[in-house]
Amino acid sequence: MKNVKEAISRYLSDKLSVIGFAPVDRFDDAPEKHHPKNVCHNAKTVIVYGIPVSKGIFSSPDYNLHLLHRSYHTVYRLLDEISFNLCNHIETMGPYVAVAIPSYSPLVFHSMEPWGILSLKHAAVKAGLGAFGKTGLVYHPEFGSLLRLGGVVTSADIPGDAMRDKSPCPPKCKECTTHCPPGAIKETGAFTKMTCLGHTIKHAIYPLALKDEHGLKHIERVINTAGNDYWLACDECLKVCPINLKIFKNKSGENP
Ligand code: SF4
Ligand code: SF4
Repeated sequence: MKNVKEAISRYLSDKLSVIGFAPVDRFDDAPEKHHPKNVCHNAKTVIVYGIPVSKGIFSSPDYNLHLLHRSYHTVYRLLDEISFNLCNHIETMGPYVAVAIPSYSPLVFHSMEPWGILSLKHAAVKAGLGAFGKTGLVYHPEFGSLLRLGGVVTSADIPGDAMRDKSPCPPKCKECTTHCPPGAIKETGAFTKMTCLGHTIKHAIYPLALKDEHGLKHIERVINTAGNDYWLACDECLKVCPINLKIFKNKSGENP
């Protein structure tokens, strides 16, 4: 369905920085509960896209984390709106159904660990938008790890884009390992999600709402409602990564 792909790409072209398509047969390794087929009836294709946060945030003398917080929560809503409209657009194009993948929440919890309904990072790799680096983030050739992602699962059968298999990390690089305050990134490339999240994601309500067994029993409800606009306490791995530093470089060849 090349014409469907072209029509969707045209529709999205002035709204997004990057777009990719992944057939569902690339998701055979996805956990059953988080497979596209459990998200959308008769799922055939996952469409993934991204918008980068601005480079200037990372050189702000005093407000790097304040600005990143606002940018993330703005772009999440923007991506959700695009996904919402894209679903309706796809469903007017033919006998298809489409569902929007949340750009952030609601999350699903497994033993206190948050999971996306469908992992947009894994979907982005399967749609050819980039490859995983040691940080567990996806690195795009032009935008490094500055992209925030959105996506739609649809029953429209659309040809996929080529994947990028090569690791983006130079073999000897260990900048993120060295600078990660809680040690979430190992030199071997092992990334401990919960160590990073415990250090980075904060919210004023968490110490109150999750302080006892009753609160923890309802962690999914707490985080998906009161915790939606979480605070960010760390972005060291974004700032020190040589892939991103190349992108931050201004035209005069100096880092801003
Ligand atoms: S955000 Fe901070 S804690 Fe998380 S991996 Fe990056 S450097 Fe480590
Ligand atoms: S800092 Fe180095 S090892 Fe870490 S993600 Fe960036 S390129 Fe890869």
